[in-house]
Amino acid sequence: MMGNLNTFPLSFKVKGKRIIIVGGGDEALNKVRLVSKTTGSIEIYSPVIESDFSAFDAQIFTRALTPPDLIGAALVFVAEESDAAELAKVEARRLGIPLNVVDVPGECDFYTPSIVERAPLTVAISTEGDAPVLARLVRAQIEALLAPGIGKIASLAGGLRQKVESLIHDGAARRRFYEDLVTRPEMDRQAAENLLAAHAADGSGQGIVWLIGAGPGSEDLLTLRAQRLLQQADVIVHDQLVPAAVVEMGRRDAEQICVGKARGHHSFSQAQINALIVRLAKEGKKVARLKSGDPMVFGRAGEEIAALRAAGIDYDIVPGVSAAFAAAADTATPITLRQVSTGFVIATAHGAEDADLAHWAALAQSGLTLSLYMGKAIAAETAGRLLAHGAAADLPIGIVVNAGRADHQSYAGTLGALALGAVDFVDGPAVILVGRAVAHGDWTDAASAAADQFKVA
Ligand code: SAH
Repeated sequence: MMGNLNTFPLSFKVKGKRIIIVGGGDEALNKVRLVSKTTGSIEIYSPVIESDFSAFDAQIFTRALTPPDLIGAALVFVAEESDAAELAKVEARRLGIPLNVVDVPGECDFYTPSIVERAPLTVAISTEGDAPVLARLVRAQIEALLAPGIGKIASLAGGLRQKVESLIHDGAARRRFYEDLVTRPEMDRQAAENLLAAHAADGSGQGIVWLIGAGPGSEDLLTLRAQRLLQQADVIVHDQLVPAAVVEMGRRDAEQICVGKARGHHSFSQAQINALIVRLAKEGKKVARLKSGDPMVFGRAGEEIAALRAAGIDYDIVPGVSAAFAAAADTATPITLRQVSTGFVIATAHGAEDADLAHWAALAQSGLTLSLYMGKAIAAETAGRLLAHGAAADLPIGIVVNAGRADHQSYAGTLGALALGAVDFVDGPAVILVGRAVAHGDWTDAASAAADQFKVA
């Protein structure tokens, strides 16, 4: 049978071997950048060295290459047009040294693929020289998929191989250990050994819970790490506030459990959620506990972490874009601003005590920006209470419903106007921003006509 590839991808050993670059310009520099990812020893030959090679561990010969220079070399790159370059081509061919001539595919014995490097893990992308731009695009996508630490995990796996073989005899159980190991970011040697001991003890290994911030609700406001872990999770336990499109970023065959607090629906109590994630992890599952925004902000993360700790279950936390930051971005509002706002407070409007409100009123009065969560239904009441505690009626306020989402809607005005309770909000979660800095945002699309009450300094 005939294949379709004209080249064969392979990993060529260059450790300690000489890699010859003919040329001293930018094309040579590009090749040096590429081969400097290896432990080969780089030699650059050219009578004129135009580019700055100082960042690389390479030997520079400011002269034309001569045939003896090639003896014993592993690879030759020709990156200039000169008599010496022609000579290098002839000699390399005569000595059987693989040759690459920059931008002349017909003269090349090999092409250099685009590389995603997580040493020792390497992904090489080749279009056989036909479409380097496509290769770079694919490369960017793969870069995003592979955690920066994943190569270290590969080394760890390599280093543990003998130990694994002596401790786990069943092939399938061994594979489960390796799968478990390579899907845990930031694992160090000690943690890997502990994991191995756990696998050796019960054959299945222990689960893990990732508390993941989903951001405000758009898929592209997930972090790369969140996306990666969602792809690895066996179960995704999410809140009602996380839109389906974000949950769908997870592995297709992952089980999905909504523990959401939707009005009128049965919802799980916090104790039930704690028990659920502990049980799933004890079954050896990788659990993505997906929360809106940042998991540590009004996300009941404290209770869940305490339950996981008490049960001795591994966990990791992945931050997310909290709603207030999305609201600030949607409305171009600098929540801290030189000479206007020296700080930023995230607080809950729901269930706030009078003492809290007195405190925030003072902070807002002194210039800090407040961002109040869970306050839409009680916006007018909250504004009234802030006024009662001494906040100025002309203090700018801005409210963003569905922040960070395509359908976000903003409202702008003053604390005094908000207290009158005349605003008819669209459906969705909202953040209320209060403070002088709010007037420096761009609220031109805001629904309330009160926007013109802003006095921007
Ligand atoms: N952990 C979340 C907050 C959860 S509490 C975070 O960091 O954003 C729920 C409250 O968050 C809602 O009542 C609302 O005030 C706010 N919220 C969540 N998503 C929002 C969004 N897309 N737009 C505006 N507010 C949002």
